[in-house]
Parts: sequence; structure tokens; C-alpha cells
Amino acid sequence: MKNSYQQLIQNLEYLKLKQMTQHLGEVVDFSIKNELSFIDTLVKLTNYEIDVKEQNMIHSMVKVGAFPHRKEITEFDFEFQPSINKQQISDFISLRFLEAQENIVFLGPSGVGKTHLATSIGIAAAKKRTSTYFIKCHDLIQNLKRAKIENRLEVRLKHYTKYRLLIIDEIGYLPIEAEDAKMFFQLIDMRYEKKSTILTTNINFKAWDEVFQDTKLANAILDRVLHHATVVSIVGQSYRIKDHLKKEDE
Ligand code: ADP
Ligand code: MG
Repeated sequence: MKNSYQQLIQNLEYLKLKQMTQHLGEVVDFSIKNELSFIDTLVKLTNYEIDVKEQNMIHSMVKVGAFPHRKEITEFDFEFQPSINKQQISDFISLRFLEAQENIVFLGPSGVGKTHLATSIGIAAAKKRTSTYFIKCHDLIQNLKRAKIENRLEVRLKHYTKYRLLIIDEIGYLPIEAEDAKMFFQLIDMRYEKKSTILTTNINFKAWDEVFQDTKLANAILDRVLHHATVVSIVGQSYRIKDHLKKEDE
């Protein structure tokens, strides 16, 4: 004959409540020692299961985000880049901009931390279970092009529109054909005032018509991107070559 404790263990295992099974003994001990009520005991026990579920959920959201690395804001050295307002970045990390469907544009030369900052904000969003996706502009265009050839551009555009936060990295590193710029515009237009987008670029807005090789389209894209946006212009040295610069000073 099983005693009740063994029966409970068996029930929890049957229900696949692994954490509750594992922590049952310890919670019973704690409950007896501290004279916890039945309800408080159950809360404590179920919290173990919930904590692990949450962790798994966060883990999978971050995975889905397809970030280039897992660098978070704690790894960003604000002292190295004094043109960046730390308070402003903290505000982005709080995700307030998502509530207002606002965009963020990081503008600046190579190596100043644009991708790092965009990724940090993206990871913060994913951790809060916001559907987030990171993609390089070039890859995005290639994917849209392929979809168009395969007659499923509409589906692909809808796919990229569904993310609450989309990060499009490296606009302007490679020129975009006018035909492809149209698809890019479609995506920006579909997300406009509905979803937030973070863009990074090394090209001043004035020169975006060269990137998209069509002045009207470039203006239409900029219009929608910048209407509700914060532009963070970063001026400074590349973090990638900082150690080389240091050596030269010595
Ligand atoms: P960008 O996208 O502007 O070209 P990245 O964000 O890719 O630059 O930064 C280049 C490298 O330097 C990355 O490894 C990034 O994590 C690191 N980095 C850049 N700026 C900083 C900083 N201020 N503090 C810490 N690491 C930084
Ligand atoms: Mg970058």
C-alpha cells in the first residue's frame, strides 16, 4: 500500500510537474517548520514549477529573436562612448517605446555600438516575452526577394509584420535595388504606427536615396520610419579598434 505522500509524488509525476515533484519534500519540511497554511504551502510549491516555466519561455523567446550575440546592456561601456545618453538607453530598455509603437534609429560609423545597443534592447524585450526578431537588412531583402520569386511575398511580409519588435541592422552597408526597395517600403508601411522597429545605419538620412536608389521611395521610407522615432546619433571611436588606438598612444 502506498502512503499519501507516495501517492502525491506519483500524481505530480503523472501530471508532469517535475519541479513540484523535486521540491515536494523540502516544501513539506519548510511548511511544517514555519507552520505555513495549506494555501501558502501550495503557493510555494507551485512557484517552483512556474519559475522554471518562465525561464524556459524566456529562453525560447530569446532564441526566436535570432540575435547575433547575447550581449546585454550591462556589458556596454558608456564611458567609452560619451555621446550616448545612458538615461535614454535605460528608457529604451524599459520598453516604454513599444507601448507607443515608436521606432529607434541608431546612426553612426562602424564599431560605435549600434548593433550591441539594438541587440540589448531586443533581448530585454524578448525576456519580457515580446515577440522580437533581429535581421540584417541585406538578409531581409534577400528573403523578401526569394519570397517574391516563389510567389509568397505577401505571406513573408505578414510574417515580418507580426513581430512586436523588429530590428533591422546595417541599413546602407550594401546598396538596395529600387525594385527591392519597394518591398522594404511595403514592410515599413505595414508596420507603421502598429509595431516598433529598431534600425541601425551608418548612412545619414540625406543619403538614403542613394541606398535605396530611388528618391521618392527613400523619402517615403524615411517619412514612416522617422514620424514616431528617436534618432540616436553616435559620434565616437570604434570599440573594435580601441585597443589598437591605445597602443598607438603609448
Ligand atoms: P556597430 O554596430 O556600431 O558597428 P557593434 O555594436 O557591432 O558596432 O560594436 C562592435 C563591437 O564592439 C561589438 O563586439 C560590441 O559588443 C563592442 N562594443 C561597441 N561599443 C561598446 C561599448 N561602448 N562597450 C562595450 N562594448 C562595445
Ligand atoms: Mg553593426
